[in-house]
Amino acid sequence: MRFPLRLTATTTRYIASKRLRRVEKFPLVMMLEPLHACNLTCTGCGRIREYRSTITQKLTVEQCLTAADECGAPIVSICGGEPTIYPELSQLMDELRARDRHVYLCTHGMFIRKRLHEWKPSSSFFINVHLDGLEQTHDLIVERQGVFREAIEGIKAAKAAGFLVCTNTTIYKQTDLSEIARLYDLLETLGVDGYMVTPAYSYAAVQKKEIFMSRDEIKSKFRAATDLLGRYNMMTSPIYLEFLRGERELTCTAWGNPTYNPRGWKGPCYLMTDTHHTTFREFMENTPWERYGRGRDPRCEDCMVHVGYEPSAVLGANRQFGDSWKLLTWQLTGRKNATPAATAAAATP
Ligand code: SF4
Repeated sequence: MRFPLRLTATTTRYIASKRLRRVEKFPLVMMLEPLHACNLTCTGCGRIREYRSTITQKLTVEQCLTAADECGAPIVSICGGEPTIYPELSQLMDELRARDRHVYLCTHGMFIRKRLHEWKPSSSFFINVHLDGLEQTHDLIVERQGVFREAIEGIKAAKAAGFLVCTNTTIYKQTDLSEIARLYDLLETLGVDGYMVTPAYSYAAVQKKEIFMSRDEIKSKFRAATDLLGRYNMMTSPIYLEFLRGERELTCTAWGNPTYNPRGWKGPCYLMTDTHHTTFREFMENTPWERYGRGRDPRCEDCMVHVGYEPSAVLGANRQFGDSWKLLTWQLTGRKNATPAATAAAATP
């Protein structure tokens, strides 16, 4: 199986209950940013630039939990900023899991070894490490030497301790796909459980525009990557990959991955900011969804990122006959390196 059974069962049940109640728009993954501070200045990161004036602010655990309750998404992706420098991270993760949420901790990996002893392996917890290439490339992108090595040491320690680990790779115009294959080969030897990819998005705040791709460039890059990605345990859905290769159209479902941070619910999406809403209800009801997406807002023109389109096949208007079966078989097949510790944790109520 590609994902832990509990994760697949929870999300399937959640989606079915929304469909039965004919809820038209609902969230699937909450992007929770307890803080925007980070010790790195990655080339493609919009957060540290956009939120420069509020970079020292952070949410309390209580604020995070109230937002997670209000949102109700079964999966919470804790990101930022760098969440491993959030002092109350362990308490936050424990509380989320006590609420039956599946947690993805998105990190650059530099402090995994430092904080690992605070966390417990579980089938509802993935450590998701950002890696954009092998050592030289990755350290260049994150603008600091030694980050790749420390992230790799963190992955080794996490796997040895029985944690589920996946990686997230942003594909830029200059990304060398054969290098990504070598990166995945290395990660396979470490027992990494799966891989996510997304094309980069051209944030207004990021100056180096030459690293971003147009839609046509994204499609040809991902068409060229078909064989490569087929060799590994991809956690990026087959329908989203079809979209990235230009084999089908999807419309943006930005409400599927709502973002909450110290300034509120970020509207309309994880990438663009037109306003922040105080409550999740306000975010859902007051965002003029019909004004966003390709052909409606020029800022969306080249956007094909996972936070806008990964949930589209499930939540959006572009569902095709057979999609549900395709997604179910994809989730139930594939390799999962569930370690004994994770399996034991999964069996613990
Ligand atoms: S298309 Fe991209 S940038 Fe536009 S609303 Fe959707 S996720 Fe945001």
